[in-house]
This record gives sequence, structure tokens and C-alpha cells, in this order.
Amino acid sequence: MKVAFIGLGKMGSGMARNLLRAGHELTVYNRTRDKTEVLAGEGAHVADSPREACRDAEAAITMLADDGAVEEVVFGANGIAGTLHGVHVSSSTISTAMARRLSSAGHDYVSAPVFGRPEAAEAKKLVVVAAGSHEVVERCRPLFDAMGRVTFVAGSEPWQANAVKLCGNFMIASMLEAFSEAYATLRKAGVDPHLFLETMNALFGSPVYANYGRIIADEQFEPAEFRVKLGYKDMRLVLATAQECSSPMPLASLVRDHLLSALAKGQGDMDWSSIARVVAGNAGL
Ligand code: NAP
Repeated sequence: MKVAFIGLGKMGSGMARNLLRAGHELTVYNRTRDKTEVLAGEGAHVADSPREACRDAEAAITMLADDGAVEEVVFGANGIAGTLHGVHVSSSTISTAMARRLSSAGHDYVSAPVFGRPEAAEAKKLVVVAAGSHEVVERCRPLFDAMGRVTFVAGSEPWQANAVKLCGNFMIASMLEAFSEAYATLRKAGVDPHLFLETMNALFGSPVYANYGRIIADEQFEPAEFRVKLGYKDMRLVLATAQECSSPMPLASLVRDHLLSALAKGQGDMDWSSIARVVAGNAGL
């Protein structure tokens, strides 16, 4: 397919590369142009604006930081709205409200947020959660297959995929909080967190537990693969969705506040697992 890819950050660059590897014809745009150079060397065309990137595209994929970035790229002065004749596939982690706004931009639209860190994006191991009309989701399936290892369809309303993504990130954030609290208590009890982690790995058998459990036990929060700033954004967004649905999420409120403390302590660009520092500080460590 003829594809425009907008947003070559930590996640987007690996996703775009896998589209090229799968044989799609790719035009890329990134606000900071330097980040397009490597993909240009691998065969991608480079555009000067989102509008130019999507001019003849059958699909335009956006992988941007947040609602504000997506707003600018879609509805801004050089945005894709009004020019794109194909489908917009939004893979950024954005609010359910923004997904509903994107659904009414005048072109076909699918929400397709992803689970997995940048190395999973590079290795085509992302878990894609798509939602939208059946016909449009199926039209985009070759793109999902090129970027991920599995695709789940969450419903016929695009924003439902964003609700799944936000609730999934809430699950991961809650696990970070749980590890942080357990480790703080164990450290005060004189028990090595690595020993605890081995025990938990035998119980849960999850690569997500194993990976984050190790990062927190080693207190290796830099370089960040998923920054505190973005994690805080996601907890705010899941609470906004909970409010829309009148569904209290008291645990999400607690985790959001701990991420806010991490931001206040200057940890915004550290990995979101550095929430453990806030919890350890509360324990006097
Ligand atoms: P990132 O490395 O910070 O990249 C953000 C991208 O957005 C960059 O291309 C940046 O352009 C662009 N951008 C930001 N503001 C913009 C604006 N106003 N106009 C145009 N472009 C703008 O972030 P990431 O880690 O790739 O994450 C991207 C999205 O995926 C986020 O929604 C995140 O929550 C989600 N996500 C991340 C992970 C992860 O582990 N990292 C996993 C799953 C989902 P510049 O290069 O010019 O700054």
C-alpha cells in the first residue's frame, strides 16, 4: 500500500521500518527532520509537512506524543484533514475524546494503539488493538500485520480501542506501584528484592512482570523507554474515560498522584518505573 507515516519517535521509527520491510511504499514526516534520515537511507520518501506526506496515501499512520500533537498534525495549518483521501490510522496513546474528534474529520478513521516498548516496535512484536468499521479495519489489516505480532479488534467505534489501551496501561502502572511498594517493604525487612522477583516470576510467568521487576530492583530508570511524562498523561486519560463512563478508578487516582510526585521531583524524562523512587521516599528510604 501507499502509506504516509507521521511521527518518528522511539516507537514510530521501528513501526515505519517494518512497513518498509513488508514492501509498503512509505512517505515519512517528522517535526524534527533529522529523525527521517535513517529511513530515507532505507528507501522512504521524506515529506516537508503532514499534508504533503498524505497527499496520495491510501493510509496515513500517526504515532505522536499526545492529543495536542495529533490535533496539530490532523487539524493544524499543514494538517492532513481535507487532503487525505485514504484512511487515518491513529496509533498514538490519546484520549477517547480525541479519538471521537478524529472520527469526524471527514476521512475514514481507525484507532489502532499498540502495546510494547520501542524494542518490540523494532522487532515487529507489538500487540495492536484496533477499532472502527469492519470494512476499514480489514483494509488496514496488512499494515497491522506488518507492525505487530497480533491484532485484537475492540469494537466498531474507534474510541473503544483507546479505552482498551488506556486500561491496559493502567494495569501496567498498577504493577509498577505494586512492585515499588513490595520492594520498599522488603528492603526495610532486609530481604533482597531480586530474590523476591525470582519468586514472583515463578508465580506470574509474565515477561512484563520480569522486565519491570528487574528494572525496579536494579533501580535503572535511565535511559527511559517510556517516560514519566507520558505515563502521567495516560493515567490522566484513563481517569477521563472513567469519568465519561461513571466508573470510579481509585487505584488509577493513586498511581496518577505518585507519577505527579515523580514529575514534581524532576523525574519527568526518567522511565515511568521510577515511580518506585517516590514510593521508596515515602518509606523513608
Ligand atoms: P517520543 O519518542 O517522544 O515521540 C513523539 C513523537 O511525536 C515525535 O515524532 C515528535 O516529534 C512528535 N511530536 C510531538 N509533539 C508534536 C507536535 N506538536 N507536532 C508534530 N509532532 C509532534 O514518544 P514515543 O515513545 O514514540 O511515543 C509515541 C506515542 O506512543 C505516545 O502516545 C506514547 O504514549 C505511545 N506509546 C509509547 C510506548 C513506549 O514504550 N515508548 C509504548 C506504547 C505506546 P519530534 O521528533 O519533533 O519531537
